[in-house]
Formats: sequence, C-alpha cells, structure tokens
Amino acid sequence: MIGGAQLRIDLGRFQRNVRAVRERMAPADVLVVVKDDAYGHGVEQIVRAACEVGAEWFGAIDPASAVRAKAAAGDDARVFSWLTTTQAAAGELLRAGIELGVGDIGYLERVAAAARATGAPACVHLKIDTGLHRNGIRPEAWSEACARASELEHAGDITVVGIWSHIAEASDASDDASRAVFDDAVAAARSAGLDPQIRHLAASAAAWHRAEFRYDLVRIGAFCYGVRSQDGPELEGIDAVAALVAPVTEVGSGTATIDVGSADGVFSSWAGRIEVSTPAGRRRLLDVAPFSSRIEAWPGAAPGDEVTIFGARADGAPTSTDQAELIDTVGEEPLLRLSPLIPRVYV
Ligand SMILES: *Cc1c(COP(=O)(O)O)cnc(C)c1O
Repeated sequence: MIGGAQLRIDLGRFQRNVRAVRERMAPADVLVVVKDDAYGHGVEQIVRAACEVGAEWFGAIDPASAVRAKAAAGDDARVFSWLTTTQAAAGELLRAGIELGVGDIGYLERVAAAARATGAPACVHLKIDTGLHRNGIRPEAWSEACARASELEHAGDITVVGIWSHIAEASDASDDASRAVFDDAVAAARSAGLDPQIRHLAASAAAWHRAEFRYDLVRIGAFCYGVRSQDGPELEGIDAVAALVAPVTEVGSGTATIDVGSADGVFSSWAGRIEVSTPAGRRRLLDVAPFSSRIEAWPGAAPGDEVTIFGARADGAPTSTDQAELIDTVGEEPLLRLSPLIPRVYV
C-alpha cells in the first residue's frame, strides 16, 4: 500500500470527541486508550491533543505505546499498561513512571521484585476476572491474591491504587453479572486491608450507555477515535477522526484507478462490496490490486481528483465502521490493518 494515499487525521475532531466523552462520563475520569499506536492514529500526536483538552489518564496494553504516551504526556498525566510481562519489562515500565495492571499472581511477584530493584513502590491496579477469561485473577483466587498484595504493600514494594476488570459488552445481562463479581472483588480487597482509590470496569460502549458502569474511571478507546460499535447507533458529538484518501491516477472507460491498493486483508476484502466517496458522490470499488484499485468513474473524472475510502460523517463519507460492517467486522480493523507505509497526515 504505497503511493499518493494518506491517512488524514483531524486532531480537532479528536479533541471534540474527547470533550464529548469527558462531559458524558463526568464525574468519572476518562482514560484515553492509546494501544496499538493509538488505534493507528499515532500515539504522540493523539496524547498531546488529548492533554490540551484536559485528559489526565492514558493507557495501553502494549508497553511500547504506554512508554511513548508517558513521554508525550509528561509528569502530570497517569499512564497505565496491562500486559502481563517479564520482570525486566515491568522494571522498565516502572522506571518510566507507568502504573501496572496485574491480573496474575506470578506477575504480582515479578512486579514486586522489579519495584524492589528500582527502589520505589509500584503502583498496581489489580485485575479480577469477571467472566471474560482472558486475563485477570479468578474469583476463587482473589482473596489470596489480595492478602499477598497487602503483604507486599506493607513491605513497601507495591501500592494497590486500583481494582479493575474488562467486560464482554456482549449483552446487558452478562455485563451485569460481571459487575456483581467486580463489586464483590472490591469489597474483598477492602476487607484484606487494601485501599484502592480507582475502580475501573467499562470501555466505550458500556461506559457510554450505562452510568452504573462508570465507577471512578472509564477506559475509552473506540469512541475517542469516532469508531462506533458494530451495528451500534451513531453517537451525539462523536465522529470519525481518520480519513483514508487516495488520488485518481488514471481514468479509463467507465473506471477510474486510485492510488491505493492491497495484496490482502481488509482492503482487498472490500473489492466489489463497498462504495467510496468521490467528488460526484458514492461510487463502487470494483477491484483491488497490490498497488492500485479501480472504482466506477463519473463524468469529468480526472487524475488528481480525491477519493475517500472512509472518513467522517460530517464530510459525507462512509466511516471505517460503516465500511467494516459490509465485510462483517469492526470499525477498528481498517485502522489497525492499514499499512504503516501510508503516511499519517495531521490536519
Ligand atoms: C481496548 C481496551 C479498552 C478500550 O476499548 P474500546 O471499546 O475501544 O473503548 C478498554 N480496556 C481494555 C482492557 C482494552 O483492552
């Protein structure tokens, strides 16, 4: 995927999204999720833009995005990273001033050991598995984990600043069941002598639609970038931040060639299945080659005309979520699968 295509990132729109999210979640705080290079938007630019509109929390599963977020956000911001990793990697995160999500007893010990080596207590957010079975301390092991965390706290190795979990957002009933497990876990942590100040459970969808899931902090990725839930409603004040645009390079009989292509993945799956936005309205994407694609032409189509494959509703374009739904996937996927060779241009 090379050539004249660009991923155009509208930082003003991102800031409007973050403001809308923060207003809706208040008094809960908002942690802006910047995993996977800020969902392909670029960690540094996104973090700086979020700080300008008051964001104070960032988080990423991957340590690399977390470290970059901390460097961009500075000392006043809190950054949280939740990959279960090695003692050495945990030590690097601690030295960078990053708070750690811990959903595994063995990892709790590694984090404590890393903190002893760095000479300052680790800020730990203990994770209870509330049903997703991905990562998290299982409810049957929770009391023992809290007891051990309390010992490590007394020893000065860690401070348990938060309790958290991640939920499926597949149905209200399963989320309610997870929330009950979460509340029990917080109560058990307090009984074990811990004093977690920050409880966080929800990501975009549950936090937006269900106030009782907000607790002290919500972790919002998708909605900050204007990626709505698959088959979910459009949201007041939220629009897509990134637009994939490509110029027309050639006009043939009935078709126009555009300067973006792919050999595999999301983009090639779109051939014959989506319409793109052109100066004359929507036109069908006919076929996709490794370095170019063809779309239906329009009267007067000429090289240099700009075509939007996905973009913002405010610009009349289909969003990444609209296009993703046509191949039965989520709106994050076109962003995360986009070649790093496509330049990111900030507007
Ligand atoms: C990705 C992620 C989020 C953000 O989810 P969105 O639906 O994009 O808001 C929150 N928490 C965890 C643990 C995640 O991995």
